[in-house]
Amino acid sequence: MKPFFKEYILYTKPYDPSRIIDELYEERDDWIRLMANENPYPPPKELVEAIAREAYRINYYPQGYTLLKKMLAEYSGVDEDNLIIGAGSMEIIDSVLRGFIDPGDKVAVFTPAYTYYIARITVNGGRSLPIPLEKPWFSYNDDLVLETITSEKPKLAIIGYPSNPVGNMPSPKLVLEIADHVPIVLVDEAYYEFSRETLKDYALSRENIVVTRTMSKAFGLAGARIGYALSNKDIIDYLKRLVNPYGISRLSVVAAIKALEHLDYYKKTIDLIIAERDRVYSELKKYSELMVFPSKTNFLLIKIMLENVKNMHIVLNLLEHRVIVRPVQAYGLDEEDRFFRISIGRRQDNDLFLRVLPNIIYGLGSR
Ligand code: PMP
Repeated sequence: MKPFFKEYILYTKPYDPSRIIDELYEERDDWIRLMANENPYPPPKELVEAIAREAYRINYYPQGYTLLKKMLAEYSGVDEDNLIIGAGSMEIIDSVLRGFIDPGDKVAVFTPAYTYYIARITVNGGRSLPIPLEKPWFSYNDDLVLETITSEKPKLAIIGYPSNPVGNMPSPKLVLEIADHVPIVLVDEAYYEFSRETLKDYALSRENIVVTRTMSKAFGLAGARIGYALSNKDIIDYLKRLVNPYGISRLSVVAAIKALEHLDYYKKTIDLIIAERDRVYSELKKYSELMVFPSKTNFLLIKIMLENVKNMHIVLNLLEHRVIVRPVQAYGLDEEDRFFRISIGRRQDNDLFLRVLPNIIYGLGSR
């Protein structure tokens, strides 16, 4: 180890989500992407045209995102003082950790947890305090959560509302009780438009709650990197010091503005995705070989209940049909590699998945 490296940064595993996918796309680009919880529908034509026009001004730095901020505040039902924009909710989550964590501080996460949280806790010098969700359905055991929090005294808690990879959420009551005991609470609402449940009002009225949101999921702008946080004015002012002032490109700002001008279009795609999620869930429930987790997001977590069959068997077989799903190795998911996650695609994508799945399951089951 080089003497100038920081130990806690060196021991953080780099987060590299796309290497396998990049390799696949080098071969062909007609894959059905059910692995990254994206919105499968393309952007409206006006959005693409606006990006093309803005490209002529790419020689200029982005400007203060003023209009975008106004529109996002209106969309979220908050004042502009209660909102900050970042390069994806990933940047905001990182900024919250950087802003509130001193080396050695504990950060509570509910496991299985999104691995990015863990990586960012460590890289910011914190120590994760895993609080296990209760098997088999990964439900919140409120008593255990409160007991752990009062005895371990974490500085911060991160709560997926709903979570990735499970897709469920704690009760608002539990979140508020956590906030009564933990100095700062980050409520990650990346999937808000699919759950239609929010703790935003508490983020405004309480001292210590930050809600993070994104345009990557419901608004189909994962490639543009637009995230935002909602909180009281003091916390937002504090975060302003941390977030990169030029983190979002001119093209992304324009894309986000155009998306917010087409709310009706996105509302339709959200309704379609929710209806498809519920349909795919009911279809998968018919298999005794699978355990399907109820979800308030645009994805489903699935556990394979067959002897000697691991997630990669299913993932590789699906790849042969051009369908990419994600084997889940989330932090705290200590099962024997039996979980995979599918994002909800367009109806025809989901139909293909549902059509090829039985052959794969029964083929593997009879090995
Ligand atoms: N939070 C959760 C729970 C997520 O699943 C994701 C994306 N997978 C993110 C945050 C990051 O989203 P963004 O694109 O806004 O950085």
